[in-house]
Amino acid sequence: MSNISSSPTSPAAIHVVGGGLAGSEAAWQIASAGVPVILHEMRGVRGTDAHKTDGLAELVCSNSFRSDDATANAVGVIHAEMRLAGSLIMACADSHQVPAGGALAVDRDGFSDAVTEAIEKHPLITVVREEVQGLPPKEWDLAIIATGPLTSPALAAAIQAETGKDQLAFFDAIAPIVHRDSIDMDICWYQSRYDKVGPGGTGKDYINCPMDEAQYNAFVDALIAGDSVGFKEWEGTPYFDGCLPIEVMAERGRETLRHGPMKPMGLTNAHNPTVKAYAVVQLRQDNALGTLYNMVGFQTKLKYGAQADIFRMIPGLQNAEFARLGGLHRNTYIHSPVLLDRSLTLKSRPGLRFAGQITGCEGYVESAAIGLLAGRFAAAERKGETLPAPPATTALGSLLGHITGGHLVSDDEPGKRSFQPMNVNFGLFPELEPGSIVKPEGVKRFRGKDKTVMKRQLLSARALQDCATWLGRGSHPRKASPAFPPDRDR
Ligand SMILES: Cc1cc2nc3c(=O)[nH]c(=O)nc-3n(C[C@H](O)[C@H](O)[C@H](O)COP(=O)(O)OP(=O)(O)OC[C@H]3O[C@@H](n4cnc5c(N)ncnc54)[C@H](O)[C@@H]3O)c2cc1C
Repeated sequence: MSNISSSPTSPAAIHVVGGGLAGSEAAWQIASAGVPVILHEMRGVRGTDAHKTDGLAELVCSNSFRSDDATANAVGVIHAEMRLAGSLIMACADSHQVPAGGALAVDRDGFSDAVTEAIEKHPLITVVREEVQGLPPKEWDLAIIATGPLTSPALAAAIQAETGKDQLAFFDAIAPIVHRDSIDMDICWYQSRYDKVGPGGTGKDYINCPMDEAQYNAFVDALIAGDSVGFKEWEGTPYFDGCLPIEVMAERGRETLRHGPMKPMGLTNAHNPTVKAYAVVQLRQDNALGTLYNMVGFQTKLKYGAQADIFRMIPGLQNAEFARLGGLHRNTYIHSPVLLDRSLTLKSRPGLRFAGQITGCEGYVESAAIGLLAGRFAAAERKGETLPAPPATTALGSLLGHITGGHLVSDDEPGKRSFQPMNVNFGLFPELEPGSIVKPEGVKRFRGKDKTVMKRQLLSARALQDCATWLGRGSHPRKASPAFPPDRDR
């Protein structure tokens, strides 16, 4: 089985567990750095509920890698950064692309076959088809766990035993996240319920959106009528911790939401203090940068299109731009901000890294991106080198930052898990220098929408340049791209 060329001078192998998007990319990056890899993949011996083949990097659902616009879309930017870093996943996606407008979509079988062939043929990579049932043994001094959202139960139990019961989730419960600068503060106001300051707060920690009775009733009707996505049979029905989808709460009674996440108590509308709101939607700061706010208690199984339409009915969110829409899925992931350091190493077990969706990123591209970083960090460690994390201004760095520390844990929901899986998006990027957005010469009207596009373009250009510098590649050759297309749903 082993095709690793052994020589007395070659470094010891790094073990990667899981040959999905993240594990395949991690193995490729390690081998590209000249370090041998043993990749353990259980399919072929044991399947998962969603995978259908034994191929590496199988895409379990959509065949889309989403927007490929590197000039003004965070997903396109991470594509470009990964290409710069020699990503196998991006190379195989590019060579098996199918027409999909501004998105990068692939022939799923051709893509997976290409990844499998590249990995199996690499002289420094050995693929072992086996289920790893426990944490890597101590002899595997450097290892990466990249077993994804459907990590086998035995390994999940071992991870839980190492990290603690509350540090590994088996379902996500994702509330939508809104870009702060798309919220209408002429309608909304900052206030914590009863002005409570709490341990790290100011008494003005939430953004509040008021509704009158007619608006509330129309909103409840829309939630009940909205199209939702069912659970797959193998997912079960994960209504846990009292964490019901918002539309299920609405179905349980017209007043349920008004006595639950939309209760108006302890809040006074700063724009209209004498009129009591009938219901209030609250948004809480989600990242340390203060650019993203999550809709408190709004986990949902509504389809993405329905979510955007219905949530824009909320006063103040009529122009909301969503960094992430809501969801509720079977998903195994660890509480990375607490457990991992900046190089994705488990703080309690030096040498053991995590990569991919199990770290709390979301999506094919993001999982592969975190695999890329884990592979590079592990290879550098094996070679006795120190690899600095990519700058926070890059897409890779901003996603890594979110996973390993950018997310805010809420003080006022003790016991509830507030770290939820996240796609890459511009809300994770640090703001531009003040004064960066200036009206171009010769342009008469420079509206809010134009400013948003310019901001995205500047964030993208900064990211690509900083990524090229991080990789020691000088300046980044920007590829021409179409005008900003919206991100696709999965
Ligand atoms: C049903 C479903 C639908 C999804 N749809 C989409 C979508 O349309 N678009 C999107 O971007 N994302 C989607 N996702 C998320 C998607 O799974 C991830 O984005 C991506 O596949 C994660 O990559 P990964 O490498 O972390 O995990 P995976 O790609 O799942 O790879 C993990 C690998 O580890 C192996 N493994 C597990 N346990 C063990 C073990 N103990 N020993 C050895 N090997 C093991 C598995 O067999 C698998 O090959 C979906 C997820 C699910 C569950």
